[in-house]
Amino acid sequence: MAKKYCYLFTEGNAKMRELLGGKGANLAEMTNIGLPVPQGFTISTEACTQYYEDGRKINDDIQKEIMTYIDKMEKICGKKFGDKENPLLVSVRSGARASMPGMMDTILNLGLNEDVVNTIATKSGNPRWAWDCYRRFIQMFSDVVMEVGKKYFEKLIDKMKEEKGVEFDVDLTADDLKALAHQFKAEYKNQLGKEFPNDPKEQLFEAIKAVFRSWDNPRANIYRMDHDIPYSWGTAVNVQMMAFGNMGDDCGTGVAFTRNPATGEKGLMGEFLMNAQGEDVVAGVRTPMPISKMAEVLPDVYKQFLQVCNTLENHYRDMQDMEFTIEQGKLYMLQTRNGKRTAAAAIKIACDLIDEKMISEQEALMQIDAKSLDMLLHPQFDPKALKAADKSNVVGKGIAASPGAAAGSIVFTAEDAVIEGKKGNKVVLVRLETSPEDIEGMKYAQGILTVRGGQTSHAAVVARGMGTCCVSGCGDIKMDEENKRFTLGGKVYKEGDALSLDGSTGNIYDIMISTVPADPNSGYFGRIMSLADKYKALGVRTNADTPNDAKQAAAFGAQGIGLCRTEHMFFEPTRIGAFREMICSDTVEEREAALAKIEPMQQADFEGLMEALEGQPVTIRFLDPPLHEFVPTDEADIAALAKTQGKTVAQIKQLISDLHEFNPMMGHRGCRLTVTYPEIAVMQTKAVIKAAIAVQKRHPKWKVVPEIMIPLTGEVKEMAFVKKTVVNTADEVIKASGVNLKYEVGTMIEIPRAALTADEIAKEAEFFCFGTNDLTQMTFGFSRDDAGKFLPSYYANKIYEFDPFAKLDTVGVGKLMETAVKLGKGERKTLHCGICGEHGGDPSSIEFCHAIGLDYVSCSPYRVPIARLAAAQANIKNPRK
Ligand code: PEP
Ligand code: MG
Repeated sequence: MAKKYCYLFTEGNAKMRELLGGKGANLAEMTNIGLPVPQGFTISTEACTQYYEDGRKINDDIQKEIMTYIDKMEKICGKKFGDKENPLLVSVRSGARASMPGMMDTILNLGLNEDVVNTIATKSGNPRWAWDCYRRFIQMFSDVVMEVGKKYFEKLIDKMKEEKGVEFDVDLTADDLKALAHQFKAEYKNQLGKEFPNDPKEQLFEAIKAVFRSWDNPRANIYRMDHDIPYSWGTAVNVQMMAFGNMGDDCGTGVAFTRNPATGEKGLMGEFLMNAQGEDVVAGVRTPMPISKMAEVLPDVYKQFLQVCNTLENHYRDMQDMEFTIEQGKLYMLQTRNGKRTAAAAIKIACDLIDEKMISEQEALMQIDAKSLDMLLHPQFDPKALKAADKSNVVGKGIAASPGAAAGSIVFTAEDAVIEGKKGNKVVLVRLETSPEDIEGMKYAQGILTVRGGQTSHAAVVARGMGTCCVSGCGDIKMDEENKRFTLGGKVYKEGDALSLDGSTGNIYDIMISTVPADPNSGYFGRIMSLADKYKALGVRTNADTPNDAKQAAAFGAQGIGLCRTEHMFFEPTRIGAFREMICSDTVEEREAALAKIEPMQQADFEGLMEALEGQPVTIRFLDPPLHEFVPTDEADIAALAKTQGKTVAQIKQLISDLHEFNPMMGHRGCRLTVTYPEIAVMQTKAVIKAAIAVQKRHPKWKVVPEIMIPLTGEVKEMAFVKKTVVNTADEVIKASGVNLKYEVGTMIEIPRAALTADEIAKEAEFFCFGTNDLTQMTFGFSRDDAGKFLPSYYANKIYEFDPFAKLDTVGVGKLMETAVKLGKGERKTLHCGICGEHGGDPSSIEFCHAIGLDYVSCSPYRVPIARLAAAQANIKNPRK
């Protein structure tokens, strides 16, 4: 039998989201549970994939099937496309497996042409509504399907409003809207050189293709990369009978959440607009009313809506985000989904749902997007700085749309935000309203302020998703985007002026107020983290080079240090001199003398790290980068070095040039340094062991077992050689101290050869730690420093979907890791294995690390909470025996 690509809403259910997309599956589910859903059908995600396979064409078979389903839909609805008696109007909306709010396209009121408008105008006795639908349709079709910018149409609307002396589009009359529709059609022809299509079927196929196309638009591609959504999933298309919220004052449309998506507070929260269509609410064209107002204007519908919300939340056992329309006093549900929420809301909702006995602890943990926890670690105003800010500095107030605090200089365009952000400058992006094209700029901004829009406007939704502070709907701002300035409270603000925003109160300040990181250990957060620890199997350590970082990580729950990059300690101004002396030494004795100066400083660093982790494991990696990274480039520094070394400038320059390597990443670095200069490893071993002895003495209750990690091993004999140096030195120091100190010597696995010969290497190594930054670059054969230049072309051509340096390549690099774990643990039962490359803090990579049996992941301090939750989720999904 031929493959089936279309499904009536009565044919699907919530479990079919892979095929029907989230929206389609939930429309079917709502239909099944008897909620009022305008009927229609879903064209599956497989049709989208097929569209791309067929070279961006809807093939004949699928076209035929769609036509059959239109027939079925017409029968169900009792209306017909293009009919002069009873015309069918539909919405065409995208809906991927994972919800991607605002990233793809929607077309409403499809099926209209002059004849149909006249029919519905006469039949309804409401020509205003009919022409309002038509002008909306022309605008949306032109924008979404034909990619003629919205701005041309918006200008015409603004002109019409000005001519008619009205503020809002609802104040335009039927004749005004009819004139607008005709102006829009003329603009369409002007832009595209052809007439606006009249045939509803042609309109429909063009719209379906546009939705399929939108799966591959730049903003969807960015969103997918940020949210680990594979390109291969495709989007479904929902063709649904229109319900009209714009027929008059017994009509409206809105969005609502069963709990507050910003705070998690239980209770209905949402917004609606009378006499409007869906996009008006989301686009922030008019500022909507709070949902509670509906109780006054449409009390019966409100009551029914409350019941529906309850039903949905109980059914899905999670906070729901719903879209609805009221057509002449009748409620229609257009969408429900598990609502996107801030991390603060996510942890509160998860805890509340456990307490309400709605879900289990494991389900609660699975509900939280691990990456989003980062938001909880986002800055707040420094209380002292906030106190110092005068009341007069509060120059305005908008809607508190996304929590956190932001301070920066004003920019007016997303492009400027990107430019300034890349320079490391802090900016606040101020816009009339944001649209999906602004997404990159929004990423770079500390905060976002919009003139229009509410809690659910684009800016609010996207900012919450990013964890960026956002204040929306500050209608007091008089914006002059063209000249890059605005007026607020009688004062003019220009590009570059200071502004601070409080995303939790909506306050806007006209000065810079310094921010401080949030406290991550408050109530719900603590509870979720301890639940995560209860269910995870992987350990979570941190990558930390300074006692401060280590303390921060310990406060975030790190169970040890998985990587201390000791070279970072050499770069400090007080140490670099001695280190350069070491590099410029001619003899072993000279080198040892220089290293002796560094040893006590290193020892102090290591003591600080061990103290911070209070007896938990601390892994110290020995010197890794090539030596040329440490030599001076500045003439004055070169001269100074020559003086201390008793050499000429020319001699030092010669030395520096001798250190030059063609490919330093694969050059004289890692354990190769110890093979040529064992005295470096001797010094570092002494520093580690002496530090451990000192800390053990100060804290007899702790069991201090330092882990010495050799970088860049590729061959067991190399490992054996370096280990011998370490062990001889360590044992001597321990013996002299009279303390019974245990220590371990292990290696990083960063070179494919090490992974492939891991059984050999495990004969010498007591632990492995995967350095997946190097392992990725060595496996792919491209440099981690240069790949950024060409990877974008690989993404554009869908050769790679994700940055392999951010998300582990489980197919290739992962295979090496899995092999190494098996070989290594096969050889040495007690071998412990971790990961300390960047991937150690990435949830999907953590899932893989769990699956291949690693003992721990190690990541930067601010990712420790994310890793703890991701580790729990991995174990809940795939429990370890
Ligand atoms: C690695 O290669 O993954 C690693 C942790 O080491 P570095 O990034 O310091 O090379
Ligand atoms: Mg490395």
